[in-house]
Amino acid sequence: MFQETEFPLLADRACGGCSVCCVHLTIEEPELMKPQGYRCPHLADAGGCGIYPSRPHTCRVYHCGWRRLKWVREVLRPDRSQVLVKLRSVGKGAEAVLAVDFLLLSKAALKAEGLAESIAAAVHSGVPVFLSIPGPPGYTSASARVDGELGAAVAARDKAEVLRILTELHEEGRVGKRAPIQVAKNAAGQPVIALGKPRRIGRGRLSRS
Ligand code: SF4
Ligand code: SF4
Repeated sequence: MFQETEFPLLADRACGGCSVCCVHLTIEEPELMKPQGYRCPHLADAGGCGIYPSRPHTCRVYHCGWRRLKWVREVLRPDRSQVLVKLRSVGKGAEAVLAVDFLLLSKAALKAEGLAESIAAAVHSGVPVFLSIPGPPGYTSASARVDGELGAAVAARDKAEVLRILTELHEEGRVGKRAPIQVAKNAAGQPVIALGKPRRIGRGRLSRS
């Protein structure tokens, strides 16, 4: 089973003034229930956590892909690039392997320096790559697995074609119906966030709604 801790934090990267994950992370803890896309109520106007010494466990352990993966270009710090790289896994149990999900937080992300190069590095290394476009707060994302779709362009080192495919997928993912994120109760009566599946786009279209 793949663990994030297999990818230790890079010594030369720090969050600095970034607080993107305080908006785009789902936090599901007794003291803080926050679906993705909602700004955390503890995030100070000037940035920084207002409850840092007692912040929830999720916040203590979470670090994005930019903090962990050297081949994610240094220029892609999430607040500067509008690209949030999330680590995830593909496969089950002992077969699970690292995958990366590039969330494009706005259209400006498509112009981020280093986006195409970072995605190409993952595809070239055989890492499963997803592209996600967040929905409005309260709604699920649109998402596509793109390593297959980008393979020929990456092999040909055709950056323009990589960006053309990403732009097309972004446009497809930006519009269309999305499922609402719901807060439900588990068997013990505790609230849980039901994220629902992202809308599939690109070649992996299976459940377009
Ligand atoms: S998104 Fe990444 S760089 Fe930004 S605050 Fe979170 S962990 Fe740090
Ligand atoms: S509790 Fe603090 S670290 Fe956690 S999401 Fe909120 S502002 Fe960010």
